[in-house]
Amino acid sequence: MNDCIFCKIAAGDIPATALYDDGEVLAFSDINPEAPIHLLIIPRKHIPTLNDLTEVDAALIGRMHLAAKQLAAELGVADSGYRTVINCNHNAGQLVFHIHMHLLAGRELGWPPG
Ligand code: 5GP
Ligand code: ZN
Repeated sequence: MNDCIFCKIAAGDIPATALYDDGEVLAFSDINPEAPIHLLIIPRKHIPTLNDLTEVDAALIGRMHLAAKQLAAELGVADSGYRTVINCNHNAGQLVFHIHMHLLAGRELGWPPG
């Protein structure tokens, strides 16, 4: 857990500008954006993947979605559209093993994703 890059961001040890922070969930810009708006929404709690979620995390994962909704409204993309994505493990391209929701917006997003 000590080597986790998103735990370090949550702790303030690696700089990232928080666009949202309710104490349990925070959001910041992706360092390598794939769209004009590309945010990462993470829980402070270290959960490696979607597979590691348990019942006790139900409210937390709900809170991440509420953060996405609020951010989309604040950034003016709620009506034009946006996408939330949680990649899980190798085939989905997960690179950081601290659960995170991508919020992508600002252009037309292809479907299905690659
Ligand atoms: P994954 O592929 O695991 O779903 O997404 C990981 C994301 O984290 C990638 O989009 C990558 O650009 C982003 N990322 C990796 N390291 C950092 C970092 O140190 N700071 C920020 N802001 N984003 C990061
Ligand atoms: Zn972590």
